[in-house]
Amino acid sequence: RESRGKLPRYPGLERWILLEKMGDGAFSNVYRAKDSLGELGEVAIKVVRKYELSSSQRANILKEVQIMRQLNHPNIVKLISFSESKSYYYIILELCQGGELFHQIVRLTYFSEDLSRHVIVQVAEALRYLHEEKGVVHRDIKPENLLFDPIPFIPTKNPKPKNPNDEDKADEGEFIPGLGAGGIGRIKIADFGLSKVVWDSVTMTPCGTVGYTAPEIVKDERYSKSVDMWALGCVLYTLLCGFPPFYDESISVLTEKVARGQYTFLSPWWDDISKPAQDLVSHLLTVDPDARYTIEQFMAHPWIRNTDEETQPAP
Ligand code: ADP
Ligand code: MG
Repeated sequence: RESRGKLPRYPGLERWILLEKMGDGAFSNVYRAKDSLGELGEVAIKVVRKYELSSSQRANILKEVQIMRQLNHPNIVKLISFSESKSYYYIILELCQGGELFHQIVRLTYFSEDLSRHVIVQVAEALRYLHEEKGVVHRDIKPENLLFDPIPFIPTKNPKPKNPNDEDKADEGEFIPGLGAGGIGRIKIADFGLSKVVWDSVTMTPCGTVGYTAPEIVKDERYSKSVDMWALGCVLYTLLCGFPPFYDESISVLTEKVARGQYTFLSPWWDDISKPAQDLVSHLLTVDPDARYTIEQFMAHPWIRNTDEETQPAP
């Protein structure tokens, strides 16, 4: 699995032993790496090629790091450190062993309602923290930017052995890396490349001079939060049925469909998905941002509140 030989060596990154390439973007490669000093264990390193960036794109990388520095939440990828060389930025991140949620949707075709709830609640917890406590909007919520740490052992639904002589089998469960009946592990939001601070978390006001803020700025701040809620709806839709709510080969047709909020609960795929789940999706995929569910409304929805002890996975 480790393909150390083919991996590049970066100046200034000598502390880290690159183990494998885990992802790549337009201007970056992401590697799994381990600490040669043995202090920090395994990490993810996003190596951004500076020389391909305009000065405003460079500023955006610094902003991404600046925002991540302020965040501390179990459902958000933690920034470990940041450094740079002449040609590269190095963003050292907490490693998410499970990789992208996207691959799990592809692997499983779609998620059960319980597993979908387990996932989406964690994304929502992170959004609530970003929106309500940090004044940050993510603006790029999608399955590729949702990572997870797998739970290595999934206990069986009925941990009590039928035969008391089989007491030692009580803990028997299924070992499915990354996935199981009870959950998928801990979900973490990654990629703050498009994120933005919309209000000052200290003064609890929109960014800019208080009192001179124009109404459209105040509204803009509210709207940008609702952008994440729309994306949350798209992710929930995709989890439940395995394909996205809006799709067309033609970008212009797709854009028009999104603008009109033209999606359907396509039969037969949606036939067996509960009405409360559909109701929640429809409140998120609402074109009017003022009518769209806020994070609080989302959390209060019956489908989210439905906590069956049997199906609720351990964190
Ligand atoms: P980009 O801006 O290029 O989309 P991302 O920050 O989304 O950059 O990283 C690209 C990909 O690298 C992700 O979609 C994911 O597959 C992988 N990745 C990024 N950060 C981590 C991490 N902390 N742990 C595991 N994989 C990661
Ligand atoms: Mg990304």
